[in-house]
Amino acid sequence: MTVIHVALDVPINQLFDYVAPDADSADIGRYAYVPFGNRKLAGIILSVSNSSLLPKHKLKIVDQINREIPPLPQSLLELFRFCSRYYHYPIGQVVMNSLPSPLRRPKYTINKQLTQTQEWKLTETGKAIALSDIPAKSKAKRQILSQLLEKGSITAQTYTAMSPYCRKLLYEFKHLGWIQQHAALPQKSTFSMTPIPEPTVEQTQAITEILARTDTFIPWLLHGITGSGKTEIYLRVTAPLLAQQKQVLILVPEINLTPQLETIFRKRFPDTTLVSLHSGLNDSERLQGWLQAQRGEAGIILGTRLAIFTPLSQLGLIIIDEEHDHSFKQQEGLRYSARDLAVYRARQANIPVVLGSATPSLESYHLARTGRYRLLQLHTRAVKQATLPAIRCIDMRITSAQEGLSEPILVALKQSLSQKQQSLVFINRRGYSPVLLCKSCHWIATCQRCSSRMVVHLHEKQLRCHYCGDQQPIVSSCPQCGDPDMLPFGHGTQRIESALIKQFPEASILRIDRDSIRKKTTWQTMLDTIHRGEVDILVGTQLLAKGHDFPNLALVCVLNADSSLYSTDFRAEEHLFAQLMQVAGRAGRAHIPGTVLIQTEFPQHPLYQSLTQQDYASYAQIQLKERKLAGFPPFSYLAMLRAEAPKLTDALEFLHQSIEIATISKEYTHIQLFDPVPAYMTRLKGLERAQLLIQATSRKYLQIFLSDWHQRISTLPTRNKLRWHLEVDPLTL
Ligand code: ADP
Ligand code: ZN
Ligand code: ZN
Repeated sequence: MTVIHVALDVPINQLFDYVAPDADSADIGRYAYVPFGNRKLAGIILSVSNSSLLPKHKLKIVDQINREIPPLPQSLLELFRFCSRYYHYPIGQVVMNSLPSPLRRPKYTINKQLTQTQEWKLTETGKAIALSDIPAKSKAKRQILSQLLEKGSITAQTYTAMSPYCRKLLYEFKHLGWIQQHAALPQKSTFSMTPIPEPTVEQTQAITEILARTDTFIPWLLHGITGSGKTEIYLRVTAPLLAQQKQVLILVPEINLTPQLETIFRKRFPDTTLVSLHSGLNDSERLQGWLQAQRGEAGIILGTRLAIFTPLSQLGLIIIDEEHDHSFKQQEGLRYSARDLAVYRARQANIPVVLGSATPSLESYHLARTGRYRLLQLHTRAVKQATLPAIRCIDMRITSAQEGLSEPILVALKQSLSQKQQSLVFINRRGYSPVLLCKSCHWIATCQRCSSRMVVHLHEKQLRCHYCGDQQPIVSSCPQCGDPDMLPFGHGTQRIESALIKQFPEASILRIDRDSIRKKTTWQTMLDTIHRGEVDILVGTQLLAKGHDFPNLALVCVLNADSSLYSTDFRAEEHLFAQLMQVAGRAGRAHIPGTVLIQTEFPQHPLYQSLTQQDYASYAQIQLKERKLAGFPPFSYLAMLRAEAPKLTDALEFLHQSIEIATISKEYTHIQLFDPVPAYMTRLKGLERAQLLIQATSRKYLQIFLSDWHQRISTLPTRNKLRWHLEVDPLTL
């Protein structure tokens, strides 16, 4: 009797056994379609044997094993197993959630078309139409047709970058007989070659060191100041590996950063197939990229955190850009860190991994300083004349402000305008104002479902909760005392935008935050406008702070940064420092010297002291010292048990019970369990949340303890709609 042990998308941490008469060990990693209860499910075969713990008569027979799709490689299955163990998450859910969704469906057959890149071409009718006049108001139509006419064809890669409506229009055109789909010839880049810069001395050193050993596991921490040309290093270490037919996996924190890097890599490697994998793709696009990666056809795989689970047969190098970024940690379901898994994968494949950042996470920095990672440093900007910007704090205790903008900032903006240089006003708060206040009785608009305040969105005439998305019309008078004098208190991007329009009516001002991006124009169009120099003043949130290279940007003004200075979360400060270094790093990247002005009420705070010196090392040292004293990571290892329920007492009670069953075993002296407390945002989406911090002196002890404890907790009864989860290595407390 042959039995296959299958990972299924079921919240139980076990494999499911099925009889499969014709299966053998070559089927490990293949897709199996099986009956489960009264459903049919797709799963992955993780092992094959000739026995089962279930009695024979209880075993069901597999419906089908899909031998058309190549099996997932052993190394990926190992990664899944590791993830399940380390994050204490059901194996089947680890496996299935990492797959492109078409592959999670039972009985998936690969559409022949999908195995090859498809492109659209004009038919004769189409050509005639494209040459004739399409009304000017049909902008998107004209854009597609002129692309088709100019380039001869258009692929998914190009049209997804153009507009979200493109796909729909293309099918419309197909219906009209204007265009047809063809299998694309191996892609050749249509980009004109841009000159490749000669690497600087520091860059050369880093490149040489990395390339000296590419046949063994070495974790590199590439610590280079903003504008030091880390991308050029990525490109230059990628080249020789591609020449050896190896694959390079590059992870970036945000989907918004992929098009930029994609363009840069495509230009440099026009003959290499590049696939990008991120949440902005539709099912079949992601599936196609995934299969190309698995078959080894794609040389470069660029993606956000989920791409860490891509099957790669020829993996030769992993690059994590902005390694300190919290987006690499998934915040729900399987709460994995793509950065940490990248290091695991590199060790497993015996290859180098490059972690790049201007402000490395203290964890990585500590590992580099203690010799577990190797440190590469870039101290100067890559562009010859570019220097680091001058950073200055504006003491808001003694400086007056109009609508949130202090005099020095207004003067600097004016000067920048007159010199035709771009400025960025950074305020990490979208909306008009974060609080709506009654002047008479001090009533504040709060969310009904969360312990948060409603943010005023004046353009949309709404109050919105940024945590649960709830929307209400703005109240015209106080619901508590009836006073009509309601005051929007504090500043958000919309309000700063209005203030700037009033101050500088002649300037072209562009607001970039999640609200403005959601509307019609795509992110790419906005970036193009900025690059063409059509914007004088940018107002934006952290969306703008990361990784962008705007050569004409000379002035950066930071408003309202203080709020995370005295947070209860020990990582909040590190996060703020990284964010401000990033945003400051946007200024003066090319030939114009940059200036950064920061409005603060705490100019003496060590964070601002290090920031104005642009001294990451000194800041890291101070922080590491504090962490050591407090016993926080990287000097300890954490996990968090969280519970949520309609009633806070139920959530807390559950955590107390968890502690009781934990203390039964006394051997865990390296483990400390803190008292259960309400979470910082106690109420979220109508549920009350509590948490319990677990601290350990070593990762190993933590894991030994958690494995046992997690099982015990799973046996606790959960009443009153209580839900819980365990997070390993939490980033926010
Ligand atoms: P980082 O990612 O380190 O902040 P980037 O990779 O964005 O920096 O590089 C900053 C700028 O420097 C880019 O415009 C890039 O084209 C340019 N650059 C990089 N390396 C060189 C070099 N060796 N010579 C001249 N310019 C360079
Ligand atoms: Zn009132
Ligand atoms: Zn809410």
